Amino acid sequence: MIPFNKPFIVERSLSYVKDSILSGKHSGDGPYTKKVTDYFNSFYKNSKCLLTTSCTDALEMISILLDIKEGDEIIAPSYTFVSTVLPFVMKGAKIKFVDVEKTSPHISIKTIIDSITIRTKAIITVNYGGQGFDLLKLASLAKSYGIVLIEDNAQGIYGSYDGYNLGSFGDFSTLSFHETKNITCGEGGLLVINNPKYFERAEIIREKGTNRSSFFRGEINKYGWVDVGSSFLPSDILAAYLLGQLECSAFILKGRMAVWNKYFDSFNDLKINQSIGHSNGHIYYLTMESLKQRTDYIQFMKDNGIYCAFHYQPLHTSDYFKNQDNLNLINTDMFGECLVRLPLFPELKDSEQDLIINKTKEFLGV
Ligand SMILES: *Cc1c(COP(=O)(O)O)cnc(C)c1O
Repeated sequence: MIPFNKPFIVERSLSYVKDSILSGKHSGDGPYTKKVTDYFNSFYKNSKCLLTTSCTDALEMISILLDIKEGDEIIAPSYTFVSTVLPFVMKGAKIKFVDVEKTSPHISIKTIIDSITIRTKAIITVNYGGQGFDLLKLASLAKSYGIVLIEDNAQGIYGSYDGYNLGSFGDFSTLSFHETKNITCGEGGLLVINNPKYFERAEIIREKGTNRSSFFRGEINKYGWVDVGSSFLPSDILAAYLLGQLECSAFILKGRMAVWNKYFDSFNDLKINQSIGHSNGHIYYLTMESLKQRTDYIQFMKDNGIYCAFHYQPLHTSDYFKNQDNLNLINTDMFGECLVRLPLFPELKDSEQDLIINKTKEFLGV
């Protein structure tokens, strides 16, 4: 069977992890966390980056930083993973789901404007598949209304838009290092704060409401409880794993892009909707004509030894949410029913990819 995904193993991670374990110093914010944080602070210049236990947790830190409470409204796409909105739901916010574009699964600016009210606290955009969309326009829209812009950039590492790194457009952005993402440590995340207003408090929230971080920098001579917060620090062992991946990121990215580009070139002249340009090689998708065609396609591929995957069930149609709002998001529903993802990982062999492409063309009759 050709799997859908296979995490890339970097030898260096193994020796870093071993070193971290043997050092006996592997709680949060140890030497490997410092190296990873330095790496991202120089990648996202003028921002403050904090390593977290997951992307979901980085988003939860944002919900605490923004003091989200009952009555607040958050605008977000419905075509995404539940983590995008869950931390805000937990604080009592009302999520105003809006539709995505017709030609790509990215939040549509037109529908955002109709949903803004006096209670709107934040707009969340998802850089789906490591591809940005209308980010400069979104940033200036949010600014003109005095609303915070958050990029759920879980999939967007090393992606760019208009010459800027994904994750540098919003007041905040988040990365995920989950096993399924381009760069992984099993479970992990990063909070990127682009608005200096939130720098100081973010450190405190991440350190269980204490000012321990400034104590360790020697700025104060004792630390204590000063705010709300939780434990958002991953073990230094995971940072060690992650550092190995980051040091080999150019190789991993090159491998993924080679696969992505070959798909793109092979399906470029087909009359079916497909991934838009400027990818970071995270997702390659095709859009089928109907739910039935997609179901048949996935079965056909499986019969030929190839695993393809679909996602997401739109959040507004989920069991948890569907009775809260009666929404009609046609483009979201279409992607929910028709989008299919093809196997994509650096070690996918040329011959395997040829088989995937040929079987897809056979199924489509082209
Ligand atoms: C993977 C993913 C998340 C969750 O990331 P975790 O690190 O598992 O918390 C959130 N949003 C999107 C769009 C994702 O793809």
